[in-house]
Amino acid sequence: MKNIGVLAVQGAVQEHMNLLSQLDDVNPLLVKYEDELEKIDGLIIPGGESTAIGRLLRDFNLLKPLRKKIKDGLPVWGTCAGMIILAKELAKDSTVHLGLMDIEVERNAYGRQLGSFKTEVEIETVSSSKIPLVFIRAPYVTKVGPEVSVILELNNHIVACKQDNMLVTSFHPELTNDLSFHQYFLNMIDK
Ligand code: GLN
Repeated sequence: MKNIGVLAVQGAVQEHMNLLSQLDDVNPLLVKYEDELEKIDGLIIPGGESTAIGRLLRDFNLLKPLRKKIKDGLPVWGTCAGMIILAKELAKDSTVHLGLMDIEVERNAYGRQLGSFKTEVEIETVSSSKIPLVFIRAPYVTKVGPEVSVILELNNHIVACKQDNMLVTSFHPELTNDLSFHQYFLNMIDK
């Protein structure tokens, strides 16, 4: 049984909890306090509003202990705002939250109007069937460092990638019924 935490300060928390509860051998846990970081085998940082999530991480005194846990190897997956929270750099913005993953991310990269759309893709390394993708005022990755491997590019923009124990996606698998990316994250934890 794996304990998978969902950072529960703001955003699409319940949606991730719902999908996690459909997977075998997963015990989903809400994470809000530092001691809860000791109980988990992996953590999801959900979509929402990165400015609010970043501020609440600081208010809850979670930013530093979480950074240390991830540096020490805790598997983590940032969806949408979670991608912004994990990035080392933001484009045209000096804000840094966890600053751990060697990527530059642009917030609201599709523009505020065009930022919300749905599509479907095939990603052989993630699933044998097509995966629905939901983008909401989404960021994308504008630069990657040498340690980062790209999982998906859509119209020449990187929207999913990973580095060591860190996974980020611009889109929201938790707003679909498709479990592929949740399963992919669990497989990452096994390795
Ligand atoms: N635009 C949001 C931000 O910058 C992210 C949107 C999302 O998580 N759906 O934080």
